[in-house]
Amino acid sequence: MCEASNCIFCKIINGEIPSAKVYEDDNIFAFLDLGQVTKGHTLIIPKVHRKDIFHLEPEIAEKLFSKVPVIAKAIQKAFHPVGMNLLNNNSELAGQSVFHYHLHLIPRYGKDDTFS
Ligand code: 5GP
Ligand code: ZN
Repeated sequence: MCEASNCIFCKIINGEIPSAKVYEDDNIFAFLDLGQVTKGHTLIIPKVHRKDIFHLEPEIAEKLFSKVPVIAKAIQKAFHPVGMNLLNNNSELAGQSVFHYHLHLIPRYGKDDTFS
């Protein structure tokens, strides 16, 4: 069980809120972003609740980042993007809206992408 009871992403990990799962192991969870700025837009989160990068231990970051290429390749295989952005917002000022640390993987298809 994840510890922050009022956190949307903890509820997703615990299955209290449904999500389209992309990847899961003992330490991390990846699922499609509800907003889908491009097709296949995916969020990668640690299963432990950490607010942002300033609260993330290197050991947790290591487990998370080591799976990024695996997840990126799975998205590439499923959606066939030309490229991909890896993005992480920390603090409201920097655009963070959910305060459970997460990486965005945003597939890129071409000039008609709604994300720039
Ligand atoms: P941030 O703005 O914090 O970097 O990104 C938070 C992301 O979480 C947003 O892109 C938003 O669309 C996504 N999001 C918010 N609530 C939910 C939800 O309940 N389910 C899913 N799959 N994504 C969510
Ligand atoms: Zn959480």
